[in-house]
Amino acid sequence: MKKTIEDYQYENKRVIIRCDLNVPIKNGKITDDTRIKESLKSLNYLIEHQAKIIILAHLGKVKTLDDKKENTLYPVYERLKEYLNTNVYFSHETRGQNLEKIVFNLKPQEVLLIENTRYEDFPNKLESNCDEELSKYWANLGEIFINDAYGTIHRVHASNVGIAKILPSAIGYLVENEVSKLDEILAEDTHPYTLVMGGKKVSDKTLVIDNLINKCDHLLLGGGMCFTFLKAKGINVGLSLVDDDNLSYCKKILNDYPDKVVLPIDIVTKDNEIVDISEIKDNSIGYDIGPKTIQLFEAILQKSKRVILNGPMGVFEESPFDKGTKAIYEVLKNNKVKTLIGGGDSAASVNQLGYGDAFFHISTGGGATLEYLSGTKLKALEVISEK
Ligand code: ADP
Ligand code: MG
Repeated sequence: MKKTIEDYQYENKRVIIRCDLNVPIKNGKITDDTRIKESLKSLNYLIEHQAKIIILAHLGKVKTLDDKKENTLYPVYERLKEYLNTNVYFSHETRGQNLEKIVFNLKPQEVLLIENTRYEDFPNKLESNCDEELSKYWANLGEIFINDAYGTIHRVHASNVGIAKILPSAIGYLVENEVSKLDEILAEDTHPYTLVMGGKKVSDKTLVIDNLINKCDHLLLGGGMCFTFLKAKGINVGLSLVDDDNLSYCKKILNDYPDKVVLPIDIVTKDNEIVDISEIKDNSIGYDIGPKTIQLFEAILQKSKRVILNGPMGVFEESPFDKGTKAIYEVLKNNKVKTLIGGGDSAASVNQLGYGDAFFHISTGGGATLEYLSGTKLKALEVISEK
């Protein structure tokens, strides 16, 4: 078991906390501050327990000098000041004397937000390559390290793996919640257990399928992904999204698990026509699952005890191609099926379609969750101190 934020004493200690404050910003204005709000629980715990708090966080990618201007955490600092009932400081530099001066003058309960860790990526990728010297420099600013940034927990960066290798460490509330929800649903033995997969590319999902197909009872396929499987069965999919490099992979899955894989029987085309899959025209593009497929999937989902879903069933961003995705969420909600939704776009679709509170868990970290579902160890979690 990994240590959690409640496993240390913080009074008067300098605590480095890696937060996920990677919020969308347009023209200097934050357009959605969910991530800031979600980070407050761990921050307030440290404040209550008299820590001196140093926040490290990233914002976007920094590959050029212009990226630096665009991706400053200053707007996040201003928002944090509104939310935190204490003194909050900002360091414009990611290392140096000014930064150290603030750090070593912090009083208990005070907070310092350091500028975007990825400033260190220009020009030498020091943060993203987990540079040893940078890791040591940051680690020396604190005495304890908390990782509360789930979105980058699968990465090997100086601000997560680098520091955790040096300081006593623990996970924050957000990471704890994400990992415990994933562990719970993956480990329990309730059946029927259904995997629902859609979204864009087969290539992004083969590792998840490989890891879960033996354990689940059904694999329902929709989204853009299903067309490579349909083509692998010899069905004409017109101009629908196909990942030709994975045709033989799909053939093998269909061959090895004929009783588990359930494919669409009808689709909705980009021209908003409903067609059976045997009648897809050469110039048609599949944009959603059709009504008969919805019924077929509903029948299986109604009986399911446990569902892991990754990838929307159609191009949900464009109405009316959100119908299939919405229908699946509706049946899962109405039947109170224990459902975990993973994947960045899947989480966005759940919120957009109004199902934000309907499920057991909606995982916030796209790439991290896909890696976990693939059975891969999360590298920045592995290095956290054991209880
Ligand atoms: P996640 O981020 O949840 O893992 P993906 O990134 O794999 O999901 O896929 C999400 C994208 O897949 C969405 O932008 C959606 O528009 C697209 N998509 C869904 N169905 C189709 C389709 N039939 N054709 C093309 N794109 C699709
Ligand atoms: Mg995606």
